[in-house]
Amino acid sequence: MGLNLYNSLTRRKEEFEPLEKGRAGVYVCGPTVYGHAHLGHAKSYVSFDILVRYLRYLGYAVTYVQNITDVGHLTDDADEGEDKIAKEAKKEKTHPMALAEMYTRSFFEDMDRLNCVRPDISPRASGHIIEQIELVKTLVEKEYAYEVNGSVYFDVAKFAEYGKLSGRNVEEMQAGARVEVSPDKKSPVDFALWKKAEPNHIMQWPSPWGKGYPGWHLECSAMSMKYLGATIDIHGGGLENQFPHHECEIAQSEAANGVQFVRYWIHNNMVTVDSQKMGKSLNNFITLKQAFSGAHERLTRSYDPLAVRQLVLNSHYRSPLDFSDAALFAAQSGYEKITASVLAIRMRENSAPEGELDKKAAQSLEDFREKFEAGMNDDLNTSVALATMFEIVRFSTDLLDDKSTTKQTLDALDQLFRKLGGDVLGIVEDSYSGQEVTVEQQERFVRLVNSFMEERIKARREKKFELSDLIRDRLETSDIVVVDEADGTSTWRDK
Ligand SMILES: [Zn+2]
Repeated sequence: MGLNLYNSLTRRKEEFEPLEKGRAGVYVCGPTVYGHAHLGHAKSYVSFDILVRYLRYLGYAVTYVQNITDVGHLTDDADEGEDKIAKEAKKEKTHPMALAEMYTRSFFEDMDRLNCVRPDISPRASGHIIEQIELVKTLVEKEYAYEVNGSVYFDVAKFAEYGKLSGRNVEEMQAGARVEVSPDKKSPVDFALWKKAEPNHIMQWPSPWGKGYPGWHLECSAMSMKYLGATIDIHGGGLENQFPHHECEIAQSEAANGVQFVRYWIHNNMVTVDSQKMGKSLNNFITLKQAFSGAHERLTRSYDPLAVRQLVLNSHYRSPLDFSDAALFAAQSGYEKITASVLAIRMRENSAPEGELDKKAAQSLEDFREKFEAGMNDDLNTSVALATMFEIVRFSTDLLDDKSTTKQTLDALDQLFRKLGGDVLGIVEDSYSGQEVTVEQQERFVRLVNSFMEERIKARREKKFELSDLIRDRLETSDIVVVDEADGTSTWRDK
């Protein structure tokens, strides 16, 4: 069985077949960079990271494009309101581009810590104004768009398939539209491709229709086309963006190119925090930096970024995910369990007897791999994949208990952890040596060494020199150098 994905467009699971054999073009809607990434971003980007990692595991050459929205995303879906970034920049008294740059860096920093593979291309909307203007020109020429007072709107009535992704009906949308929509629009369901800029609007560019800026939906059509072609294999995004954002992307792209825009639409579900929708007013809005450091009143401790990642993998990407301190706590201990198992295997590999790969163990590893792949092939069921990882952990414990387990068997086990837990799930690391040590861990370490030092001083005072030498030697094996001063006191330092 190959990879089956739930296609939001056809509303069923379909076997993934790329346009070009062995290749996969993936476009995922990126963040609008006006704040630090939060738990919702973790759910979304870990989910698509898993998709990309698994496609690569299956041997596809993947081109992964994920944009950065740094202009044009307004506070109101009806093409009204302020630019989200400009609004925040005003508040923070900085230039919109400086704000976007700061939060773009912050986003990548957090995604790196979550072990999300960086996209191959991260195009910025502000860096693709020319491409966006060209696309609007094409749509005007083909009479899918019209200009009014320096703004250009997409004429939804001209695109019969509008609503096919979200299953919405245009007449119903028209009837339900709010009355205060722009009088420039022929229909309230029409959406802005290009907006006329007021003189005080900072982010604006010259265009055939005067000075203005692009509508939010436009960038994804223009940039996916530039880097992945008119038809792309997979388009991902959050369920909340299915309408209007993705519906508008389809209209723009298909009207301009006359071919299908996306073959497989993949949408991830949303997150709640303590069973409530995340929101600043509810005080349950948790950024990733707060989750990693524990600096939020809803959290009792700091969480390892990979434990946050593991919690995301616990549930299916199409299911909602509830973050809570208790859930994070459980994910943390689960993550530590897997890590401890991997470390134990790698340590024991050095001292285990040489010999052959145990046939029975090899068969079990093969069964685990099949089970893992069957789960992943079934619309990326990461909860099955993760459960299989825990089965491998239990299996490892038995092998580690058996002193006759060979180096070769342990190595096969380690390789399986690296492939499934590392390459695909991203929760097992190649090396744990270069890990950053938290302040908390450092303090615990210092307390521990100091307590050994006290024991040693006591031993010296009682003239138990054998014991004091033993403590010194043991500390030395941990790279701690003990220095005895002439006045009978002792100090220690890192080697
Ligand atoms: Zn998009």
